[in-house]
Amino acid sequence: MKDIVMPPQEPSFRDSVDLMYARAVRFMDLPPGLEEKIRVCNATYTVRFGVRLRGAIHTFTGYRSVHSEHMEPVKGGIRYAMSVDQDEVEALAALMTYKCSLVEVPFGGSKGGLRIDPRQWDVDELERITRRFTFELAKRDLIHPAQNVPAPDMGTGEREMAWIADAYRRMNTTDLNANACVTGKPLSAGGIHGRVEATGRGIQFALREFFRHPDDVARARLSGGLEGKRVVVQGLGNVGYHAAKFLSEEDGARIVGLIERDGAIWSDAGIDVEVAKQWLSRNGTLKDCPGTRFHEDGATVLEAECDILIPAALEGVIHKGNAGRIKAPLIIEAANGPVTAGGDEVLRERGVVIVPDLYANAGGVTVSYFEWVKNLSHIRFGRMQRRAEEAEHMLLVREMERLIEAQGGTGALSPGFKQQYLRGADELALVRSGLDDTMRTAYQSMREVWHARPEVGDLRTAAYLVAIGRVAESYKAKGL
Ligand code: GLU
Repeated sequence: MKDIVMPPQEPSFRDSVDLMYARAVRFMDLPPGLEEKIRVCNATYTVRFGVRLRGAIHTFTGYRSVHSEHMEPVKGGIRYAMSVDQDEVEALAALMTYKCSLVEVPFGGSKGGLRIDPRQWDVDELERITRRFTFELAKRDLIHPAQNVPAPDMGTGEREMAWIADAYRRMNTTDLNANACVTGKPLSAGGIHGRVEATGRGIQFALREFFRHPDDVARARLSGGLEGKRVVVQGLGNVGYHAAKFLSEEDGARIVGLIERDGAIWSDAGIDVEVAKQWLSRNGTLKDCPGTRFHEDGATVLEAECDILIPAALEGVIHKGNAGRIKAPLIIEAANGPVTAGGDEVLRERGVVIVPDLYANAGGVTVSYFEWVKNLSHIRFGRMQRRAEEAEHMLLVREMERLIEAQGGTGALSPGFKQQYLRGADELALVRSGLDDTMRTAYQSMREVWHARPEVGDLRTAAYLVAIGRVAESYKAKGL
């Protein structure tokens, strides 16, 4: 994003996460030394490797940081971006520990990254770079089904995960569980239905849960439900796109602003998210997107009047320098760390309610967990539990056939379609309900602390309290 100028006095991303952590432990009674043990990153591995490309050797720098191994495998995405450095992966790895703990996904926290601008390389080149990076991490067990399981993050997706899985399998040909070495794979390579949309879907479920509690809504100086709420989304990548799409198409929210790299668009009547997404992928910009007004300065829209602000791009976009100008009374953090510790303080003082990243964007890792379980069980997710519902879906298929016939069609759906429909509906339905359940339960645990302990003050600190408390419990139970 343009025009994000971080004031010099702002702490680093890593320090920012630690400051938020420190805020929460003040309210806890941890045994001596445990505060530090939980806070620090256990290890961060840096690798520099060369790949021969375009007639020359190019050296790339990559990282995999393991924050906490109180549960294994450790889990977290791999990011491809020029911003990647040790500070960033360590901050993100720490967030993964707290996130998994809060939503009770049984993983420790990890994160990886490669300092690369993926747009500068073509697909074949990216594949060679990714396979080489995989080799470097896997030979040190930093990719491993039982020890460290990566996933997509900024700049990576299903394609990269399929390369990682394949490269790992080739290194471990006798490992029956090799597929579980990474999540976020395409369906055809051991993935699970609903993983691509998972983080955006999680944002929707989180907001639905928030709006089910009128007293929480009132704390954000709002009223009513999601219907008609004016929403601004920053970042139309996988997370921002799905969140905006589901909220507008299924909950009646109005997406009035969308912010991208080179500017932002606005429409009082509401932006058609599909149109905007297609416009962006065709033209590389949101400029001139039909039915919208373009603002070269993204800050205009970030700081505009709206009900809900969803930062779904980079960390540190709301900071000391601009937090005082944010008008949204409710912020839901779809990105990791979009609000700095300094920005957080300003917003807290102004009474802005923040649904924190460690809860809000946990949909991705939750569905990653389902995928990992699916890979280890070697049967499709929910196969056992869904016998009865399968029968129900069969009735739906018959109903579809009847409708087609009524329209003058042949009636019979092809066996392939039927099979695909059944499989899709079965797994996707289960993934969605599992995710919904996870988001509701985690909200309750965070909310309970928020309400029961007024001194805690905000949802973020409440979320950290719950998350750190569970990690502490696990250390106490198992020892170090
Ligand atoms: N990169 C995502 C996150 O930040 C997903 C991690 C995962 O699925 O392991 O939560």
